[in-house]
Amino acid sequence: MIFHLVTIFPEFFRGPFECGVVGKAIQAGKLQVRIHNLRDWAFDRHKTVDDRPFGGGEGMVLKPEPLFLAAESIWPQRKPGQKLLLTSAQGRLFDQAMARELATMDEVMILCGRYEGVDERVAEHLADEEVSIGDFVLSGGELAAAVIVDCVGRLLPGVLGNEASSLQESFSQGILDCPQWTRPADFRGWKVPEILLQGHHEQIRQWRRQAAMEKTARRRPDLLSKASISTPQ
Ligand code: SAH
Repeated sequence: MIFHLVTIFPEFFRGPFECGVVGKAIQAGKLQVRIHNLRDWAFDRHKTVDDRPFGGGEGMVLKPEPLFLAAESIWPQRKPGQKLLLTSAQGRLFDQAMARELATMDEVMILCGRYEGVDERVAEHLADEEVSIGDFVLSGGELAAAVIVDCVGRLLPGVLGNEASSLQESFSQGILDCPQWTRPADFRGWKVPEILLQGHHEQIRQWRRQAAMEKTARRRPDLLSKASISTPQ
């Protein structure tokens, strides 16, 4: 799978994709992340990509032309299996279901906004979808793009050591993951639940499902109303 990230700060992406399973996926060629400098599509002397907002107001807005030219030259012809996203605080909320959807694509392009935002014609006539990583405002779309690449990258086939781990984890079954412990079984007097030490796999499976439900009820009751109450196989 290929990600194209269009940004005015290409150097932003020097670090985040070097570590862990996503770093390994890139080294193994399962995932490619291509960084494109938006200013390569600005042709005046100062490589201007922003301008003042019509109607007045604070700050600057990213101009439509460099973003359109960037997208059109990276993908001269649109094909099925491509998705063009615009990062935006006003977008559809990114979640695990959307990550799974994106993981089925061949190529995803993410346009990173900056300043006060992006000329609305990019959302209306260029991007397939506006995407937000949460109800808060970032200073730019780069962190949001990094979050999306990380989250989608780890879902690609063969990226996680154990495919089952992405089926068991938080949000995959609509609820949170169960709590986990490792050695020592007694740490400063805090003991690991007895059942996990006994090796009865079926009992452990049921106990974990229950523990996941309880934790979800405590931390994210909003998820429970949507989750199925059946025990998964
Ligand atoms: N004036 C805008 C915020 C602009 S922030 C508003 O109030 O909606 C500058 C850029 O950061 C945005 O264009 C967008 O690309 C990115 N950004 C900010 N918050 C984001 C979020 N929650 N998710 C994804 N991108 C975000």
